[in-house]
Amino acid sequence: MTIEPSRKRRLLIYTDLDGTLLDHDSYDTSATASLRQQLKQLGVPVVWNTSKTAAELESLRLSLEHTDPYIVENGAALYFPDESTQQPKMTFGPGHDHIMTCLEGVRRQFRFKGFHDMSVAEVAAATGLDEGDAALAKQRQFSEPLTWQDSPGKMSDFLAAMADCGLHVLRGGRFVHILGEFNKATPMAWLNDYYATQWDATVDTVALGDSQNDIAMLQAADRAYLIRSPAHVTPQINGQANIRIAKGYGPEGWAEAMAAEVDALMTPQTPPDDAIKTSLPG
Ligand SMILES: [Mg+2]
Repeated sequence: MTIEPSRKRRLLIYTDLDGTLLDHDSYDTSATASLRQQLKQLGVPVVWNTSKTAAELESLRLSLEHTDPYIVENGAALYFPDESTQQPKMTFGPGHDHIMTCLEGVRRQFRFKGFHDMSVAEVAAATGLDEGDAALAKQRQFSEPLTWQDSPGKMSDFLAAMADCGLHVLRGGRFVHILGEFNKATPMAWLNDYYATQWDATVDTVALGDSQNDIAMLQAADRAYLIRSPAHVTPQINGQANIRIAKGYGPEGWAEAMAAEVDALMTPQTPPDDAIKTSLPG
């Protein structure tokens, strides 16, 4: 059977990786394989939108045969695969040097440990990555993940200190991320416009994520799926009708959500005239 998408919608998917496309602990994504293949056949881009670095994504993109654009470090930069992976297409915030200067300034007031302070072995232990991947995770260009080692009560003072530097604090599944005033939704507007022009169509966006740092992305999409995590509670999103919670955890929830989207895409909303005619007797 040939797969022919309905022409009325051009779907564009934005997906988080850790705990969403990839299992939170094993990073396995075999549950999503057939859906990823179907989306590729349908010409639906699956844009990765992750807190990971560009360096970290290189081998993952090869092994999963990912050829669509990708957004790194929580919305900091957008890369197009057909251009050099060394240089982002667009950047949306200040560089890592500015963040480190600001963190150095508050080091005596708060207890925390950033990737910059950790050895490769420590990053490996904190992330569950092997040492090769942990070394890539340390190659930050636009953000610094840290483990918060101070009392929860001091977090609000820390947020204020970061805001004084023009920086912003995002709580992810494992780490607290320090970054500029952007989030995972920031590059979406630019990329939606890009595809709308390329396709000469209205772009219909779907987002998937599991953590606090995904909320802006989920809220910015036309439809979104909050993926359950075995590692943390599902973030609260106040009554937004476009966001559903997937039943399965991690990649199984992702596959279930994408199966529903592919079904909707393959089901014409109004039957074409020809189909009605041929079904009539005589
Ligand atoms: Mg995640």
